[in-house]
Amino acid sequence: MVATTPIVGDVVREIGGEAIDLVVLLQPGMDPHTFEPSPQDAARVARAAVIFAVGAGLEAFLDPLLRQAGGRARKVDLTEGIPLRPFEAGVEEVEEEEGHEAHGPMDPHVWLDPQNVITWTFTIERTLGELDPGHADRFRRNAEAYRAELKALDEWIQAQVASIPPERRLLVTEHQVFGYFAHRYGFTQAGVILPGVTTAAQPSAQEIARLEETIRTKGIRAIFVSSTVDPVLARRIAEDTGARLVRLYVDSLSEPGGEADSYLKMMRYNVQAIVEALR
Ligand SMILES: [Zn+2]
Repeated sequence: MVATTPIVGDVVREIGGEAIDLVVLLQPGMDPHTFEPSPQDAARVARAAVIFAVGAGLEAFLDPLLRQAGGRARKVDLTEGIPLRPFEAGVEEVEEEEGHEAHGPMDPHVWLDPQNVITWTFTIERTLGELDPGHADRFRRNAEAYRAELKALDEWIQAQVASIPPERRLLVTEHQVFGYFAHRYGFTQAGVILPGVTTAAQPSAQEIARLEETIRTKGIRAIFVSSTVDPVLARRIAEDTGARLVRLYVDSLSEPGGEADSYLKMMRYNVQAIVEALR
């Protein structure tokens, strides 16, 4: 079976353990928004029975790859069933409208709220059990144990975030990644460097000037940049405004053995860095 990103791969492996044969398409540090698969990736997909993906438009490469590769792979969008949040159009938090029709692209970064990863675990547990009923009990036990860790992570994040004064819970990032995290833990996405829904777009000089103004007037102390993106523009904005540049892992994990080489470690690393920068 195949997982698209290292984060998806880590969660699948927590549940499948030694009983599954898993290939992860993206290497640590690769940007899923702009990933271009190789012929070797097509061969891996063609051989797979199941492909676990985030879905919600994160892996733009995947549907063309599946068409090109052929094979009988079943694509499992882990984000299916999770209420998606729209990308926020401006710099201010968009008020939530209950029951309104969703317009425009939705935010795929659901995993930055551990509760959504708990939802993933049920889908993974069920899919693996259908594929290999002989190991279904083991998958269920693994999933239950991992869900307990995710619950503990969520509680730990709440305790950590409590040390940041509410008026300083403002996130400026290079692309819009923290919608679900902000919603869960009481932050506001105060600004974003790259416009649009992926990491591919570039801001205008006017957009940069407006963001710098927001950072200055709100006294924002840090700009958070993901490990998968070249921080050249963020560095310039940090220099212009005096904000600190802080690197986080949001779309990918670190190399194995690194500071964020699992989903749980990634979340702890990010939260520690955010708390240290903002409190
Ligand atoms: Zn992203």
